[in-house]
Order: sequence, then C-alpha cells, then structure tokens
Amino acid sequence: MRIGHGYDVHRLAPERKLILGGVEIPYVLGLLGHSDADVLTHAVMDALLGGAGLWDIGHAFPDNDPAYEGISSLVLLERVMKKLAEQGFRVENVDATILAQRPKLAPFIPQMREKLARVIGIQPDRVNVKATTEEGLGFTGQGEGMAAHAVALLLER
Ligand code: MG
Repeated sequence: MRIGHGYDVHRLAPERKLILGGVEIPYVLGLLGHSDADVLTHAVMDALLGGAGLWDIGHAFPDNDPAYEGISSLVLLERVMKKLAEQGFRVENVDATILAQRPKLAPFIPQMREKLARVIGIQPDRVNVKATTEEGLGFTGQGEGMAAHAVALLLER
C-alpha cells in the first residue's frame, strides 16, 4: 500500500466558471487558473501522483504549456490514471476536503464523487468529498480563494 497527499489553492475571480470535481457550480465567481482551475481535482491528482512517487501535477502538466490552457481537469485526471496504471498502481480510496466559505457545496457533492470515481475507475463510495467553511478566517474564509486537501490510498499490483 502507498499513501499520497495533495493540496491546492486557487484564487476566486469574476467571469470565470466555478468547477469543482468536474461539476459546474452556479456562482458569481469562479476559480482562476491556466486549466479550468478545478482545485478539488488538482488536489486529488496530487494525492494520486504523490502516492505513486510521481512528483506532482506541476511537473506532469506544466502551466506554461499552451496545450493545457482551459483544459478540463478531468481530462488531466484521466492522464494521471494512465500514469498510475503504467506503474502498476490501482486506487483503493480517495478522501478530499474543499475549503470554501461560499457557495453551499453540499448539493453538488454526490455529483462530484460520481464524476471523479468514474475517471479513477472505482465506486463513488470510495471517493469521499467534504466541504467546510473556515469561519470567515483567512483567504478561504474571506472568499478570496478556495483550497482543497486530498489523500489517496494506492495498491501495488
Ligand atoms: Mg491547481
């Protein structure tokens, strides 16, 4: 067994879509980034790459590469899964937490789990996603950005 941890942050900005776990969420602001800035999927990918000892998404998909501009992070996750399979890893489970003051994310969480699980190739009950506010504290609490943490357990074939 191998364990991996991932953490990511993106700034909130106007005129951007808010995409979390591949799900578009109606909100006045969206996350800013080179790709679709899906902070949850980025943390999950870093946990998966980390567990496999494959460094991080910044090295797998450099953000100065125009090929990744506006790309769906689920497509990047698909590529991460290919890398893991090549190294003989499969995923046992993923657990993730989104840090965001607003909007209310609970209604969208089942859909996020389903989307992530489909790409990872496991059942949605093995991809847990939680969301928490930060009591108005810090950049997440002040609504300047969102962060996400993830851990993943990998099994070596
Ligand atoms: Mg990111």
